[in-house]
Amino acid sequence: MTVRAGIVITGTEVLTGIIGDRNGPWLSDRLRDLGVDLAHIVIVGDRREDMAAALGFMRDEGMSLIVTSGGLGPTADDLTAEVVGEFQGRAMVLDEPLEGRIAEILKPLAARFPHLDMEAIRLGNRKQAVIPEGATILEPVGTAPGLVVPPADSAGQGAPIVVVLPGPPRELQPMWQAALATQTMRAALDGAGEYRVRVLRLFGIPESEIAETLRVAEGQGVALERLEITTCLRRGEIEIVTRYEPDGEAVYEAFEATVRERHADTLFSDDGSTIDQQVAALLRGEVPLGVREPAVRPVVPGAGGRTVRTIATAESCTGGLLAARLTDPPGASAYVLGGIVVYANATKVSQAGVDAALIERHGAVSVQVAEALAEGACRRLGAEIGVGITGIAGPTGGSEEKPVGLVHLSIAGPGEGRLTRSLTLPGGRADVRERTTTVAMHLIRRALLAL
Ligand code: ATP
Ligand code: MG
Repeated sequence: MTVRAGIVITGTEVLTGIIGDRNGPWLSDRLRDLGVDLAHIVIVGDRREDMAAALGFMRDEGMSLIVTSGGLGPTADDLTAEVVGEFQGRAMVLDEPLEGRIAEILKPLAARFPHLDMEAIRLGNRKQAVIPEGATILEPVGTAPGLVVPPADSAGQGAPIVVVLPGPPRELQPMWQAALATQTMRAALDGAGEYRVRVLRLFGIPESEIAETLRVAEGQGVALERLEITTCLRRGEIEIVTRYEPDGEAVYEAFEATVRERHADTLFSDDGSTIDQQVAALLRGEVPLGVREPAVRPVVPGAGGRTVRTIATAESCTGGLLAARLTDPPGASAYVLGGIVVYANATKVSQAGVDAALIERHGAVSVQVAEALAEGACRRLGAEIGVGITGIAGPTGGSEEKPVGLVHLSIAGPGEGRLTRSLTLPGGRADVRERTTTVAMHLIRRALLAL
């Protein structure tokens, strides 16, 4: 039996877009891991009727589990506990021990701000301790307790369980673990099916190619209806996420074999690793991540012997975004020496050692300057590998000859290795900048695998 779930995100700030929702995607990931079939995410403002309507919708659609986020604070516009209580047919009651525990949490806060209105705090404190009768309390991570609220008998047959969580992600995430440990949730999740999830990542082909591959696989008799396949374009890469029940393993293997055969040159990951993780592993000199059975398994000298390769960047149009991406993994300081942002031409000359005459002759956005930036990054920072990026991220600054989206990337090293690419990327400024860093990551990988 499958467990169907819905998520209700509350908060006028999320509804209006002032704050981007982080809880829906996070909970969605967790539910998927548990084999729960998430059907809907609904965002509502801090309004009683809208919240109640969202809960009613989830029930009418046959969800057996609803998770809510937000609206558990001490103020009057924090309504979730009350609305859920009513939805589940449960009276609101004051839990005095809980009131005491929240008061303890508030004590240090009150001591730090001596001028606080203690009466208002006491009232807020009490409000947060008023919970639906019979609910299981999830201890506060901040000051708000969460709740697991099973339906009362009066709520009717097949009514869902509601898990009520606070809005701040740093509170919601640990509390979700606590919710899973409750008796009610364990019983509810008992019925969840076991699923496997596999991810394939490809770079350098359009999404339409994958659609064609799906048709080919079907033509070869692969029972694709046994697999739930999602393809999406993400950061300029194609991600194929497949979810299937364990007895669909052979079907999945057949599907993967078709992808592998048709896209051998663009498939770069079948083990879940991202390009960032792969580049980090290569720079650390670790056994490369990536594809399990490539035609030729790349052998990196020092894999096992752990030859660390140092890297540095000189970026113009990406303004340091590649350096930010390279330095993201923990421990990156072992191999990333640093990055220079060289925006003005004079800075390209003074900081990255680019010849002023070269810029004069070819223009700042040119293959020659990209190469000189890569060399300059190596030389100035003493790195084995240098990356140079120059381009036009837009929205202005383009010309007929050099349109917006034109980017030149160059990798110098290790040793005599040189790799340069020029491309015109689609989209707005943010797209061009992000896509450029993705292309750069793939070029770095290629430079390291060519060793
Ligand atoms: P609090 O006691 O902090 O008021 P709460 O449960 O009432 O807890 P909300 O008032 O809904 O939570 O949200 C508090 C803050 O948490 C928001 O202003 C926002 O910064 C953050 N937050 C809430 N919901 C989300 C969300 N879905 N995604 C990201 N951040 C969120
Ligand atoms: Mg609040």
